[in-house]
Amino acid sequence: TNDELAKWDRESFFHPSTHLGQFARGEAAQRIVTGGEGVFITDRDGNRLLDGFAGLYCVNVGYGRPEIAQAIADQAKELAYYHAYAGHGSEANITLAKMVMDRAPDHMARVYFGLGGSDANETNIKLVWYYNNILGRPEKKKIISRWRGYHGSGLMTGSLTGLELFHKKFDLPLAQVIHTDAPYYYHRPDLAMSEADFVAHCVARLEDLIATEGADTIAAFIGEPVLGTGGIVPPPEGYWPAIQKVLDRHEILLIADEVVTGFGRLGSMFGSDHYGMKPDLITSAKGLTSAYAPLSASIVGQRMWDVLMQGTDEYGVLGHGWTYSAHPIGAAAGIANLKLIDDLGLVQNAAEVGAHLLAGMREAVGGHAHVGEVRGEGMLCAVELVADRDRRRFFEASETMGAKVVAAMLKRGVIARAMPQGDIIGLAPPLCLSREEADQIVTVTRDAIVEVLGPGSA
Ligand code: PLP
Repeated sequence: TNDELAKWDRESFFHPSTHLGQFARGEAAQRIVTGGEGVFITDRDGNRLLDGFAGLYCVNVGYGRPEIAQAIADQAKELAYYHAYAGHGSEANITLAKMVMDRAPDHMARVYFGLGGSDANETNIKLVWYYNNILGRPEKKKIISRWRGYHGSGLMTGSLTGLELFHKKFDLPLAQVIHTDAPYYYHRPDLAMSEADFVAHCVARLEDLIATEGADTIAAFIGEPVLGTGGIVPPPEGYWPAIQKVLDRHEILLIADEVVTGFGRLGSMFGSDHYGMKPDLITSAKGLTSAYAPLSASIVGQRMWDVLMQGTDEYGVLGHGWTYSAHPIGAAAGIANLKLIDDLGLVQNAAEVGAHLLAGMREAVGGHAHVGEVRGEGMLCAVELVADRDRRRFFEASETMGAKVVAAMLKRGVIARAMPQGDIIGLAPPLCLSREEADQIVTVTRDAIVEVLGPGSA
């Protein structure tokens, strides 16, 4: 029964990113999800909800795709598993590798498959360190990340993540990780700053950090093309080319964490293409299989690849790999998923319906007295709530306005995400969202804001 399941859940399981005590005592939200179709999920209580966050920005092709389910079943019957060590592999993993490289930016050379975004970032950091060791500069090891960046929650990746929640009481960040400013224009230190001035400010802050630490101690810079979990923040105009110039000058590698943006979410296949970035490494996961099976990809650029090969010529086998690297079932899901993205034109749909969602949201809530900013790119959209719009004064954390609006949206049948820092309503729907479904999200967001914060005509 529902009650039994709920009880077993509380008594046997501990959930990720959850308040453990509240959940175990039955004081926190619990939802047992049973099915999904298109952009909707259903639960055991009989609710049908429009998933405006595609799970965790990952079910890009939408729920219930029989093509992917069939591909997984066929693969499981034919060959559920064989490892990929020492030159072994499956037809599925080789085919997917070819498909990924056909879609990756031209200067990328090879792909390595793991299971999720965190492990793909761990792989990329190890490759950066290996690279510098092979080049005989073992002191060049620090990694620059950005405050508000999200890169996972392992020891290294949790360190890279620039959100306090992921460090607190875990003795993180590790010593090799240093943080610089987020390119968050709405939060610029001085309201009088133009966007161009703010980019110059971010560049100057980065230059200062490099000067203080010493360029010969810094290996790489990691960033999401669009900040995701830190608030869904597209970069200000010109940010990436300006940062890239600094990194090139100091021989600092660039890792584009495209776990959210890879495979179409911005309306381009990769965020790196979208913003003209030239990364040495790309991290991807989520959209690679639309989360039908766990799989991640670490994509290595040519200049690193040449050195990695030289490294194994000198030192032997690369000491990095997992039992489940390049798992055939994940690869089969990936192949079917990438085909669907092409066949249904979902990258284009993300651009078009994403623009429709953003325009509709700006129109519906952009003038509200407690809406500071409506922003987005492709199929990513955020509404930032503020106490005082004219003075850009934020709510107190204890007021939990973002969470309240998201709860009011849920009552109206739409799932959004209260982003972990600040009062930001996050939307990242499946890329197959229709215009009508986008309109439904907009209406529900507006009604929920009015319910929680009043009519608020500016
Ligand atoms: N990098 C980014 C940009 C992410 O958004 C996430 C997860 O949300 C990760 C890395 C970590 O991925 P995973 O949760 O699959 O380990």
